[in-house]
Amino acid sequence: MGTVHVVGAGLAGLSAAVALAEAGTRVVLHEAAKQAGGRCRSYFDPALGLTIDNGNHLLLSGNADALGFLKTVGAPANALTGPDEAAFAFADLKTGERWCLRPNAGRLPWWVMSPSRRVPGTRARDYLAPLGIMRAASGKPEGGGGTIGASMACEGELYRRLWHPVLLAALNTEPRDSDVGLAARILRETLGAGGKACRPLVAVEGLSYAFVDPALRYLAARGCEIRLGRRLRGLDRADGRVGQLLFADGAETIGPEDRIVLALPPWVASEMLPGLLAPVEFRSIVNAHFVAVPKPGSPLLLGVINALTEWLFAYPDRYSVTISGADRLLDVPREDLARRIWAEIAELCNLAPELPSWQIVKEKRATFAATPAEAARRTGADTAYDNLVLAGDWTATGLPSTIEGAIRSGKTAARALRAGSSVRAGSRAPDLSARGAA
Ligand SMILES: Cc1cc2nc3c(=O)[nH]c(=O)nc-3n(C[C@H](O)[C@H](O)[C@H](O)COP(=O)(O)OP(=O)(O)OC[C@H]3O[C@@H](n4cnc5c(N)ncnc54)[C@H](O)[C@@H]3O)c2cc1C
Repeated sequence: MGTVHVVGAGLAGLSAAVALAEAGTRVVLHEAAKQAGGRCRSYFDPALGLTIDNGNHLLLSGNADALGFLKTVGAPANALTGPDEAAFAFADLKTGERWCLRPNAGRLPWWVMSPSRRVPGTRARDYLAPLGIMRAASGKPEGGGGTIGASMACEGELYRRLWHPVLLAALNTEPRDSDVGLAARILRETLGAGGKACRPLVAVEGLSYAFVDPALRYLAARGCEIRLGRRLRGLDRADGRVGQLLFADGAETIGPEDRIVLALPPWVASEMLPGLLAPVEFRSIVNAHFVAVPKPGSPLLLGVINALTEWLFAYPDRYSVTISGADRLLDVPREDLARRIWAEIAELCNLAPELPSWQIVKEKRATFAATPAEAARRTGADTAYDNLVLAGDWTATGLPSTIEGAIRSGKTAARALRAGSSVRAGSRAPDLSARGAA
C-alpha cells in the first residue's frame, strides 16, 4: 500500500490513521476544521472562562476499542476518571429519593437480588425485562429486529428509573422507538459482561486532552502529515476508483498504490458518493454548563429522574448537564433552559439559587437516530471504489453513535484496506465482513 489519505479527523478518522500508522503505513490526515476531534473535542468558552467539551461524554470500562486506542496513542494515565467499581448515583427530584446502582463485577448478576444495589421499589424479577430485547434482536440484521417498544414493556418503576435513562443515554433516541439490535449490542457489551464492564469513565481533563491530542502526537511521531483547515469538496471518480481528492484549496492526486479513508459525517459522505445508503435522521443533545466548584464528595456523575436534567457531571471547575434526544428543546430560549436547569441543580446540590455564569450548547445533529429505519441504512466500510473505504460512527458497527463505535469503525476501515477488499457497489455493502468484525 502507498500513502493513505484519511479525510476527517474525528475519532473515526483518527482511529483509522492510528491503526494504519501503527502498521507502518504512510498517512496524510485532512480535516476541514482548524481543530481535530470533530464531535469529540475541547475548546475555550469565553462566556464561562473555561475550557469545556463540545458535549459531556460518558464511556464505560467495557468500551474495549476506546480504551485500546488510548493505550496505543499513549494517552495520559488520568485521561479517563471514574469510580473503582460500577456505581451509578441517582436522585429523584420529585420524591427526593437517592440511590446507587451497583452491578457486581462478574457476569452472574447477583446484584439484582440485593436491595441495596438495585433501584428502590423494584423486584429482582423486574430486571429480566431486557431479555425481550435480546430475544428480538437475536440473529437479525441491523434494523431487522424492530423497536424496543415492541420487545419490552416500556413502563413501570424500573423502566422509568433505570432502563429509560440508561437506554436514552446510550441511544440518544426515545427508547421505545429505538432499534432492538443496537440496544442488544450495548447491553451485551456492558451489563451482560458484568459490572467490570460498566464502570463509568469521564474525560475530566477534557476530550482533547484524553483522545485527540495524544492521537495527534502519536501520528506526528510516525511521520503522519496532519493538514487542518482542508475541506474536501468532491471526488474525481472514474473506472471504479477515485483519481483525485478535490479540496477547496486544490486537488490531491491519488497514485495507483494510494488509498483513501473517508471518515466524514454521513451527510457529507453522501454528497461525495451519490447513492450511498447512510442515515438521514439525527437527534440532538443539549448540554448546560455552570461555573461553580462542586462541593467535595459530589458524585462525578448523577442520574436525575423526574427532571429536565438527565445526567449531572461534577467537573472540578463546573457543573455540566446532559439532556439526550433533546430535539424538543431546540427552540427553547437558551436563558430559559439555563434558569430551569440551574434551579434543579441548586435543589439537588443544596446551592444558592442565583444563576452563575452559564453556557448552553445545542448540538443539533449529535447522533444518528437509533431507529430501526436508520439502523437499516448503515453501510459497511467497503464501497464501489477499489481505493476507497468508509469510517464513521454511522457506518455498520452494530453500535449506536458513540466513541466506541467511531473508534471501532476506524479500525475496521484500516483492516478493510489492508485486506484490499473495497470492491462493493456504491450503496450498502452486501459483504458483511466489516460488520462481523465490528
Ligand atoms: C453533544 C454530544 C454528546 C455525546 N455524548 C457521547 C457520550 O456520552 N458517549 C459516547 O460514546 N459518544 C457520545 N457522543 C457521540 C460521539 O461524540 C461520536 O459518536 C463520535 O465523536 C463521532 O466520531 P466520528 O469521527 O464518526 O464523526 P465526527 O466527529 O463528526 O468526525 C467527522 C470529521 O469530519 C470533518 N469534516 C466534515 N466535513 C468535511 C469535509 N468536507 N472535508 C474534511 N473534513 C470534514 C469534521 O470536521 C469532523 O472532524 C456524543 C456526541 C455529541 C455531539
